Amino acid sequence: MKEQHLTDTFGRAHDYLRISLTEKCNLRCTYCMPAEGVQLRDKSIFMQTDEVVAIAKEFVSLGVKKIRLTGGEPLVKKGIETILDELGKLPIELSLTTNAILVDKYIDAIQNAGITSINVSLDSLQQNRNIAISRRDYHHRVLSNIQLLLNRGFTVKINVVLMRGINDDEIIDFIEWSRSEKIEIRFIEFMPFDGNNWNREKTISFDEILHIAILRYGEMNVHTIKNAKNDTTRHFSITNALGTFGIISTVTNPFCDSCNRIRLTADGKIKNCLFSNDELDLLSTYRNGESIAPLVAQSIQAKKKGLGGMKDFSQQELAQHENRSMITIGG
Ligand code: SAM
Ligand code: SF4
Repeated sequence: MKEQHLTDTFGRAHDYLRISLTEKCNLRCTYCMPAEGVQLRDKSIFMQTDEVVAIAKEFVSLGVKKIRLTGGEPLVKKGIETILDELGKLPIELSLTTNAILVDKYIDAIQNAGITSINVSLDSLQQNRNIAISRRDYHHRVLSNIQLLLNRGFTVKINVVLMRGINDDEIIDFIEWSRSEKIEIRFIEFMPFDGNNWNREKTISFDEILHIAILRYGEMNVHTIKNAKNDTTRHFSITNALGTFGIISTVTNPFCDSCNRIRLTADGKIKNCLFSNDELDLLSTYRNGESIAPLVAQSIQAKKKGLGGMKDFSQQELAQHENRSMITIGG
């Protein structure tokens, strides 16, 4: 019964739910949200703490085994401690993607929820660049919170969105960091979303990143690490490094064939793909006292083979394909 709900027409089993807790954020990253910001909407349309918990529980009863909390910035969500506490009791792997600004405030709640691995966004090792990219100045606070996470024994993955002419000259600096510290650097290809002025030339491809690493360290010293099932990152390590680096290549090498992800937006819509624009309103169904299971099944059954039905992110295709900005989807 569970498998029926979560397996799509291509045989992909979906057991990984990413819940966006809020559309709000304490940063304004250029690649994630439009310069004018996101229109604030009445708070009644967003999932409240108890609704997040109840809907998450329904997903777990349908067979979800892993939940990632994201946003917007998940740690600015009112009620985050209760959400961490309640979801931490579920029989799932719980994880978090954050910009780390509020990590020091919530580190105990995060640890008590049983979270052991955290993804932190940091797009530059240079303060001025981070200010330009995120339109705010929290550089030192983020670095000290990353250190706090490491000191507390968390596995820390650093998400770096590479953009040509902005931070692509820091690839080696980030890899060097992974040589001296037990962290995982994850270079993410810049992806197109509403309002982020994407074009293909700005994306630094998987091949380019790997080429730069091989030029610097030599082919013999760049080792491929075997992928885990459903892993979207291709992992590498440099000889004798303490950490690793990886590449997430949604644009030049999508990993749709093994996709196991479902998304729940902060306003309670289920989205079967990052690029899908078919959304079903789980929150209204839940508020009407009905089961969300039929809608979940409907959404999974409608999932397209790849990229929300697009082929290759051509400008023409994107022009005809509406989607939200990343901050309102939940990355
Ligand atoms: N605020 C949290 C953070 O920044 O980690 C969580 C939400 S954020 C939307 C989740 C991830 O999406 C971040 O790692 C961010 O770098 C990534 N992201 C946002 N916009 C993107 C884009 N256009 N292309 C690639 N990755 C993007
Ligand atoms: Fe906020 Fe994360 Fe988007 Fe940056 S990437 S604006 S930190 S939600």
